[in-house]
Amino acid sequence: MADTKTVVILGGSLGGLHVAHALLKKHQQYPKLRNTHFYWNIASVRAIIPGQIPDAKILRDLSEALQPYPSKMYELVIGEAISSDFTAKTVKIQLPNSEDVRKLTYDHLVLATGARYTNDTPWKANSDYQSLLTLLHDTASKVEKAKHIIVAGAGATGVEVAGELGYEYGKTKTITLLASGNHVLPGEQESFSSATENELKKLNVHVQKLARVKDVTRILDEGEEKYTVKLESGQDLDCDLYLPTQGMVPNSDYINAKHLDGKTKTVLVDEFLHVTGVPGSTVWAVGDIVSKPRAGFMITQKQAASVAKNVEAVLLQNKQPVPAKGPPVDILACAVGRGRGVGRMGSIRLPSFGVWLAKGRTLGMQMVDQYISGSVA
Ligand SMILES: Cc1cc2nc3c(=O)[nH]c(=O)nc-3n(C[C@H](O)[C@H](O)[C@H](O)COP(=O)(O)OP(=O)(O)OC[C@H]3O[C@@H](n4cnc5c(N)ncnc54)[C@H](O)[C@@H]3O)c2cc1C
Repeated sequence: MADTKTVVILGGSLGGLHVAHALLKKHQQYPKLRNTHFYWNIASVRAIIPGQIPDAKILRDLSEALQPYPSKMYELVIGEAISSDFTAKTVKIQLPNSEDVRKLTYDHLVLATGARYTNDTPWKANSDYQSLLTLLHDTASKVEKAKHIIVAGAGATGVEVAGELGYEYGKTKTITLLASGNHVLPGEQESFSSATENELKKLNVHVQKLARVKDVTRILDEGEEKYTVKLESGQDLDCDLYLPTQGMVPNSDYINAKHLDGKTKTVLVDEFLHVTGVPGSTVWAVGDIVSKPRAGFMITQKQAASVAKNVEAVLLQNKQPVPAKGPPVDILACAVGRGRGVGRMGSIRLPSFGVWLAKGRTLGMQMVDQYISGSVA
């Protein structure tokens, strides 16, 4: 009976591909994805520096990842989930470059469509492969030309973007990081934030605090792009390139609002990562679409492993699911340029060299092979 079951996985990134590998290794399942390619977005902060990361390393064809499995075991559908009916157990997929919508039925559904930035930036895969590649190239070429770059948002992504820019151009361009509050990395201990600011200073990154962006105007000056960034304080800042890193929202628009948190629009899940309120508990969610306890790839990995095991247990072995466990300790690691970093394991600070070794040296690029081969699952 096992081969008659269908699991649809929505999203082909860190969460979705992990679940797909884990299930395909144990025979079943069918992924439905928006992109033809797997995107190692964690290295996007360095990929905007010209010449640092080859396209073919940061973006890998998803069919390459699934090709080792017998073709009758899976179907790779490229398209965007646009609506879902958790009672009828169907999802509608908008196929690319056409008006066609395909309706898929499933026994179990895994939501792994993550989150996106609301602006035109390459920090996540918000579009199809070609558009993402064009965006990466355009951003890198604007970075190369710009004399003054403003990075807005001083969370982990903003710190990493500013660090990469400072490392490469700190002596030749002006790099400004805008923090809306009193510190970079809001929510972290003050001493940790101060250490991060010191690392950025070493790369000549200018950190401007209490600088919440109100409005941004883009002007074309003799064919060259210029930006005026208006702050809530009333100050206007001019630059040649504006790179926002704030404003991540979950890709949950295709899900009925009753399954979503009213404020954050993340999917509501129980301890098993079942989406709450679904008849028969046939819908699961992992990764940034859940963002619980926070959005992070180690958390996504743990959730993907747990959901794959539970789907297998429930669907094929008629067993009860077990509660999902997170990583034993919360680790935060931020590369600050290609030579240093800041991090903590729980509340214990990690040395800069250790963070560089574990993260900043490669930004995890070696893991792309593990996601493609399936050894990650
Ligand atoms: C610059 C950067 C650096 C990071 N560094 C770290 C780090 O060092 N450590 C850490 O723990 N975390 C880090 N993260 C967080 C990490 O990237 C995320 O937690 C992880 O990507 C979540 O994976 P996901 O599969 O849930 O979602 P996503 O990576 O958001 O992928 C979702 C996928 O679903 C697709 N999709 C979206 N909507 C639809 C739809 N309607 N239909 C079909 N497909 C759809 C998207 O195109 C995408 O392919 C970083 C994030 C950023 C932005």
